[in-house]
Amino acid sequence: MNAELDLQTIRDRLMESATNAGCNAVGVCNQEGLEGGPPSTDLTRQLEGARSAIVVSYPVDEEKLELYMGKIDHTPYQEDYIRTNNIIQGLMAEMTNQLRKFGYEAEVVFAGNTPADGTRADVMPQNERQRKAAELNPAKASDIMLGSIPLISQRMLAAASGVGFFGMSGNILTESHGAAVSLGAVITTADLPPTPVLPPEANYCDECNWCGNVCPTSFMSRTDFTTVKMGEHGHHKYSTRGHHMRCASHMAGLTGLSENGKFGSWGPSRKQLPKDDDQLLPTIMGLAGDVMKRPQVPGGFYDAQKGTKMNIMCSACNLVCHPEKKVRAKRMKMWMQGGVSIQREDGTVETMPLEDARTYLDAMPPEKRALYEDIEGTGD
Ligand code: SF4
Ligand code: SF4
Repeated sequence: MNAELDLQTIRDRLMESATNAGCNAVGVCNQEGLEGGPPSTDLTRQLEGARSAIVVSYPVDEEKLELYMGKIDHTPYQEDYIRTNNIIQGLMAEMTNQLRKFGYEAEVVFAGNTPADGTRADVMPQNERQRKAAELNPAKASDIMLGSIPLISQRMLAAASGVGFFGMSGNILTESHGAAVSLGAVITTADLPPTPVLPPEANYCDECNWCGNVCPTSFMSRTDFTTVKMGEHGHHKYSTRGHHMRCASHMAGLTGLSENGKFGSWGPSRKQLPKDDDQLLPTIMGLAGDVMKRPQVPGGFYDAQKGTKMNIMCSACNLVCHPEKKVRAKRMKMWMQGGVSIQREDGTVETMPLEDARTYLDAMPPEKRALYEDIEGTGD
């Protein structure tokens, strides 16, 4: 490896490789540009002496996405989600390898790098910078308790490096593919020159709130907003997020039907989450017990850190969000009018109109039906 290359050339080569591999956005941020963000923006939390991060975005397959959003077929998108993430991890491993050959230390930032997902690192503030960051960006007590605070936030890195911008959903929106992307990041001791944050006029988020409309649960506040300032840049506000388990229970398919009972995620259960956050945990434990007794949904992946089997059952808030408003409108309609999910004996999930799903559930023996909806007299 040509060790005398300057940092700018190393950066440009790595960015070019990511673009050539199919990434729709690539950027670099450094410790100064992240200053002021939450503690999860201090790169040294993961790698001692880290100075910068390379961040990439890789688009998901839009045809498969539409089969998923239209409630036509769950499998192709789930397979594409796994494929996309594996491509990113491969790319990030190669960047790490190249940076090490140039004489720098580097590490991949894995998605889901939280205590709940298995990181052993202490995510509570460890130094003065992180303590100040925690004061500016206080964490919710429930996130501390559940271990859902990331060690390093890919989202924050993506906003600070100009890969994308925050939309009202709190997801990263990219200029070409909206939020229908997977993110990846590598952190390194190389002091790579940063790329600029995207200017406010590049942000297409018109606050339509369709990300909130497609959400089957009360996760994104319509009245409270979070703003983050990193470096010199004040980023677009986003809806303050509710209790992490509200989203996670739909993402993991513990439940499915929306609060208004008219649409749902891909989860086949109709059981509702309590309004009071304090009551959530016992309900979630009951829902997790239901999943253990139901047939396994085919496909999916094993979470590398937790070792548990996962199926992707929601993500509607990011998949709906496209730069073109008419595409966004189409996806919202598909998701909300595509029917609700039921589960077959072989574990497959499919959707059908609400009334047909009612008939399907009514034909089940009560002890089986109780795995999908509350039935009086079963104690559920
Ligand atoms: S769906 Fe609308 S409000 Fe939500 S992030 Fe996208 S553009 Fe913004
Ligand atoms: S993934 Fe689903 S449940 Fe979670 S916030 Fe997005 S739309 Fe709501």
